[in-house]
Amino acid sequence: MDMAVDIKVIKQHLIDPEICIRCNTCEATCPVGAITHDDRNYVVKADVCNQCMACISPCPTGSIDNWRTMPLARAYTILEQFGWDELPAELPPEQLGGRIAAEPEPATEPAVAAAEAGFEVESETPSYGATTPPWSAAHAYTNLYPPKKPTTATVVGNFNCTEAGYANQTHHIVLDFGTMPFPVLEGQSIGIVPPGADAQGRPHHARQYSIASPRNGERPGYNNLALTVKRVLEDHQGRPVRGVASNYVCDLKVGDKVQVIGPFGHSFLMPNHPKSNIVMVCTGTGSAPMRAMT
Ligand SMILES: Cc1cc2nc3c(=O)[nH]c(=O)nc-3n(C[C@H](O)[C@H](O)[C@H](O)COP(=O)(O)OP(=O)(O)OC[C@H]3O[C@@H](n4cnc5c(N)ncnc54)[C@H](O)[C@@H]3O)c2cc1C
Ligand code: SF4
Ligand code: SF4
Repeated sequence: MDMAVDIKVIKQHLIDPEICIRCNTCEATCPVGAITHDDRNYVVKADVCNQCMACISPCPTGSIDNWRTMPLARAYTILEQFGWDELPAELPPEQLGGRIAAEPEPATEPAVAAAEAGFEVESETPSYGATTPPWSAAHAYTNLYPPKKPTTATVVGNFNCTEAGYANQTHHIVLDFGTMPFPVLEGQSIGIVPPGADAQGRPHHARQYSIASPRNGERPGYNNLALTVKRVLEDHQGRPVRGVASNYVCDLKVGDKVQVIGPFGHSFLMPNHPKSNIVMVCTGTGSAPMRAMT
């Protein structure tokens, strides 16, 4: 006898908190505002996401490309997702009314709304490639050292670039990877993992910093790269705060060891053909990748 129960299911779009580097690319890309974040996790609103796939390709880590078959009534809320340190497993078939998890199926309406209306979630071909590199860019290696497997770099330079008397402080940091391969291109970034734990006792997540030196290093012939890091001493509202990673990096001494993940980014790259025209516009430490490119 067929015991399958008619439970409405959705393909719920989720972000893997273990490998997400909190770069905000997906939130900035999503055309319908389905992605949001707290100070820990980036999450997807099941009742807003229409599975258009626009966020999949730009994500530098692949953490955005996760899906769970869920009964509509049990779709994970964003509050649940904010509390995750890892993704939950797929539910067993008996909790899905006998339905087997399949490949995600993009819809034109939010998956929840489609299921509520009694429709199966229908699919169209995903529209990948919203963010593509220049055709002549060199191949970018990404995720060689993911958040679970960072590598160690040694600080070989730390120079305060800010003139005395200014409240803001920006440091030029040089990291050496020794014999550890760490191939990078101009326009990519790395993640620095600050030591210690946050207020909830969880290890600090990595913060990203743009590479501010060309692909052959700050000092050509050495396996090194430069960063340009601004101390965060007040939040976006101007209230005093001590940014975890920026202050850790700006306080590093020559010889200190640093945990590094990355490299990240496969689209914001230099064209490699002669006579290409480049216009650069930036503010503040947004100049870091441009230093690498010039
Ligand atoms: C792709 C990418 C490249 C980046 N490249 C650089 C770079 O080259 N140089 C660089 O200095 N930073 C860069 N950043 C920003 C960097 O990753 C951190 O977000 C920044 O250093 C703050 O981290 P924190 O740990 O010090 O602050 P947190 O401890 O994470 O934050 C403390 C408080 O300050 C607020 N806050 C965070 N950042 C700022 C800010 N910039 N101004 C004001 N308030 C802030 C937070 O909302 C929070 O309330 C980059 C970010 C991305 C996504
Ligand atoms: S799949 Fe589309 S709607 Fe859903 S979060 Fe990504 S960009 Fe937004
Ligand atoms: S790593 Fe991917 S999922 Fe995480 S914030 Fe960046 S784009 Fe979004």
